Amino acid sequence: MAYQALYRKWRPMKFDDVIGQQHITQTIRNEINCGTVAHAYLFTGTRGTGKTTTAKILSRAVNCASPIDGNPCNECEVCKSILGEVCLDVQEIDAASNTGVDNIRDIISQVSYVPTMGKYKVFIIDEVHMLSKGAFNALLKTLEEPPAHVIFILATTEIQQIPATILSRCQRFDFKTISISDIVSNIKSILFSEGITATDDALEYVAYLGDGSMRDSLSILDQCLAFSDGELTLDKVTNVVGAVDDKTLYDFAGDVALGDTVSALRRFNDCVSSGKNFDNIAKGLLSVFREIIMYKINRENFSASKIKKQYLESCADKFDVPFLVNCINILTDCIVSFKTFSSHRVLCECALIRLTTPSMNDDYDSLNARISSLEAKLCAVSQGGFSAPVLDETAPCIDKISPAPTDDIPLPEPPLQDDEPAFDASQAKHSAASQAAAKWNDITSALASNGKITLCALLYGVDVKAADNTLYLCVSNPDNRHALSEKTNLDAINAAIASVVGSDVNVRISSDDIHSSVSGDDLFQSLGAMGKDFPSNFNLD
Ligand SMILES: [Zn+2]
Repeated sequence: MAYQALYRKWRPMKFDDVIGQQHITQTIRNEINCGTVAHAYLFTGTRGTGKTTTAKILSRAVNCASPIDGNPCNECEVCKSILGEVCLDVQEIDAASNTGVDNIRDIISQVSYVPTMGKYKVFIIDEVHMLSKGAFNALLKTLEEPPAHVIFILATTEIQQIPATILSRCQRFDFKTISISDIVSNIKSILFSEGITATDDALEYVAYLGDGSMRDSLSILDQCLAFSDGELTLDKVTNVVGAVDDKTLYDFAGDVALGDTVSALRRFNDCVSSGKNFDNIAKGLLSVFREIIMYKINRENFSASKIKKQYLESCADKFDVPFLVNCINILTDCIVSFKTFSSHRVLCECALIRLTTPSMNDDYDSLNARISSLEAKLCAVSQGGFSAPVLDETAPCIDKISPAPTDDIPLPEPPLQDDEPAFDASQAKHSAASQAAAKWNDITSALASNGKITLCALLYGVDVKAADNTLYLCVSNPDNRHALSEKTNLDAINAAIASVVGSDVNVRISSDDIHSSVSGDDLFQSLGAMGKDFPSNFNLD
């Protein structure tokens, strides 16, 4: 037997089974019980909230030979014929593919005929907002004076596109998005019937991904079940949908709250290494900031899983709403740019930098000025050979980091000259390489505070070793190796080392094995000789 999608297989058969819309189903059942059924209904609400399901149940309930408290029996001849989609009295029209006035005229021509089996002819028009203006006008005439045996059920996700003349002739019901807890309890009972076990956090995550839509939640569940055996766990769900798990996303939010660019970029690198795609990371973060806003605004009535509420509780007070709105703007820019710029990695990294560095938000001129002055400073530092002044991260004001020396910034000490005692140059380099290895964290921090953030990202996780008067940066990823070997990047690394250690050090970018290490140029040439093409966008400064 062909596999039937869960949402079809478990589509509610009576009003009592429709999830989360009791305010609607109860009213309609009362109308059926009292014999006061309307002749035109308008069901509106987001996708997957039960509009079509309720319309189908209604079409049976009004025609059922033996209804049970307003619900269809689903057993009588009429119910079975409607369920089998062979009853001529119930017609479903998808307005998305039948938009024209002729389609509506076709329906109207059938309106005058009396029903063949049941009491009513029911016309369900799905996506009714797609009808043309002419089609709406044709429909309007029939809605003004419908025959007693006709019921129209119009369903739409776009209520604002329905003409007021149509609205005023319909009984309108607004379907609510379904709460996470309602979705979870429903999919729990479905899985129980299917004999499948699942952890609570897995189900809560499926419901969260479904975003208030039962149909979407069940489709995601279908997808997860198809790709996993045994108990359905949170890990399996996040793997199947390629999503970044909540904990990681909220850890990112923590980095943003602390303004910790280095940590955010390191986390980003870890996500990418473990196979998460850039789009999912950016969109996941966007939804986290949205959730934090919603949670802050309406804490008591916020619908979310227990775990998610814990995450929210732990970080909500670290943000104010305008800041969060700005975070959403930054991520929206990033996601929109995915369409026009192919290097999604760079876009994500820039977004993370902007998120963790509020002072540079939306002010590119000051950002450029800041970087230029820092680069000038760095240049002066590496030439002068003195230790870099510690930049106050809490005071990113341009004036304070002016390239020209001021009273606030110590002038460079004169470099050590000939009057110093003679020393063995190779020994000095040897110890400088060891010092650089020992102070590697300071060197990456110096790069970060000088705006070389993308370079820092490339350097995360590199294995640093000092040997033979040389600092070896062992990088397993060949693309990263190539990017690091570019002159501008090597220069920046050398400058940072000079600023921390106080002298020049030989730097070699190598693969994991030091013995097979080659210099950046050698590596480029040897890989080039192997015919490997490199992307041209690797100048990451
Ligand atoms: Zn029946």
